[in-house]
Amino acid sequence: MEQPISELKSALKFFPQISKTLQQEKRLFLALDFDGTISEITNTPDKAIPLKGIEEALNLLSAFIPIAIVSGRDLQNLRQRISLKNIFYSGSHGFEILEPGGKVYFPGKGMKFMEVLEHIQGQLKTALCNISGALIEEKKFSIAVHYRQCKEMDKGKLIEITSLLLKKIPELKIIKGKQVLEIIPNSLCNKGSAIGFIMCLINHEVQHFPIFIGDDITDEDAFRLFQNGHGIGVIVKGRKGKTTAGYSLQNTLEVKEFLEKLSLLVRNIEMDQVKA
Ligand SMILES: [Mg+2]
Repeated sequence: MEQPISELKSALKFFPQISKTLQQEKRLFLALDFDGTISEITNTPDKAIPLKGIEEALNLLSAFIPIAIVSGRDLQNLRQRISLKNIFYSGSHGFEILEPGGKVYFPGKGMKFMEVLEHIQGQLKTALCNISGALIEEKKFSIAVHYRQCKEMDKGKLIEITSLLLKKIPELKIIKGKQVLEIIPNSLCNKGSAIGFIMCLINHEVQHFPIFIGDDITDEDAFRLFQNGHGIGVIVKGRKGKTTAGYSLQNTLEVKEFLEKLSLLVRNIEMDQVKA
């Protein structure tokens, strides 16, 4: 069920409640978005790196539970920003998935959209060349049109021009993010399908209980997976509107605090299981 983001319970204040749910589960699985979740949102996407301490917290956690970073960024771009080796990475909104052993999967058959993406990218470059501050980011299976650095009066114009161009291309769709238009293949691949795919890979002997932390509209596909109660969605505040996440965190600093609390809890759960 959707709720206004502003009305969600804090995942830190209500950690005892989350902890109770997690303690009833045998195995946990943690997935996190990158930009705006473990990294601050930066003026240009090439500057984003994980907040200090977050990689350390994830490294500790990864000794006990499977972890995935699920992002709209390309796999290659994502891998340049995080040094952790023993975790899953999902890039390009679920079109590329890398498992810890190094095997890469392409669940959405993204290759077939490359030609149309290239075509629209050329058109966008021409159509937006007079809008100062517009940044077209070329990705493997998508294009991001960033307008964070545009003048307020130009933002609407950029959105209108991009939407008009895309109207003629049914193979692609636009998702409006935080000061960015994501142009992605019109397929069933998204962050939710990526989490589902990774869970199929890890759920061999025992079902894992997923926790996903994300901040933007594309993360809602992942939060929606948990509407049946199997899984916890945590949204990092920063946009207005509604969400299907169950809890919220204020910012990336709170994400770090949450991961540290989770790390302690997971170690205690594991130790109890060893004793039992
Ligand atoms: Mg994000």
